[in-house]
Amino acid sequence: MVSHEMRSPLTAIQGTSELMGRYTLSDDKRKQMAQMINSESKRLARMIQTFLDVERLSAGEMDLRTDSFAAQDAVEACLQRTRPLADRKEIQLRAAQIDPWPLKGDRELMEYAIYNLLTNAVKYSPPNTTVTIAAHAEGSMLHLSVADQGIGMEPAELKNIFKKFYRTRKAETSGEVGTGIGLSIVEQIVTHHGGRIDVTSTPGKGSCFTIVLPRGTAPETAPASKMVSH
Ligand code: ADP
Repeated sequence: MVSHEMRSPLTAIQGTSELMGRYTLSDDKRKQMAQMINSESKRLARMIQTFLDVERLSAGEMDLRTDSFAAQDAVEACLQRTRPLADRKEIQLRAAQIDPWPLKGDRELMEYAIYNLLTNAVKYSPPNTTVTIAAHAEGSMLHLSVADQGIGMEPAELKNIFKKFYRTRKAETSGEVGTGIGLSIVEQIVTHHGGRIDVTSTPGKGSCFTIVLPRGTAPETAPASKMVSH
């Protein structure tokens, strides 16, 4: 399962390093390629770590980390990582209201989940559309949603998309490379954090994935209106 998902960064690293060895390149081009190798190796390392952690958590061999971190910071880091992909497809990435509550858990794993929803939204959307991320608190939970104006999914397909290797027909014919693994990992991560993932979608119109996670408590960073009143 891991090897399927690792193929895309590995292919980029192999191809780029091969070109660098074979041709005389300008300094600028060399630098650009070295940067690509560097960022793809980092993506690969993060991916391996995430898969190992999820396996260990599922086997009960690892305790879940309980870092407390601002949802905004995690969202911002993921937006930054997704931006090159969105730019290439001329898709606008927009952060709507992000309520200033902290999240509690394993930051690396949660960023993997958020990043995965963002890259899927970009992958399965046509150019010149918008992907919007938002987060709002409801009771003790934080609802983090990623909405797109993309290809959407048929109602009957929705129950399958969290299964390993499942891809919709539209995704298969979209020309976007995928393995059908990402969402199954996202669901496991969210479940390990005591949360859940919801999805709504209209074929041809777009989809909205919402991860609902227990939020931390940090009155000092919470908005005045949300603080306990005296
Ligand atoms: P993949 O590697 O195929 O993107 P995922 O596990 O991340 O795998 O997603 C499973 C399937 O769910 C995708 O192949 C696609 O059919 C569907 N899907 C996920 N996100 C979206 C989205 N934002 N819009 C439309 N379809 C989506």
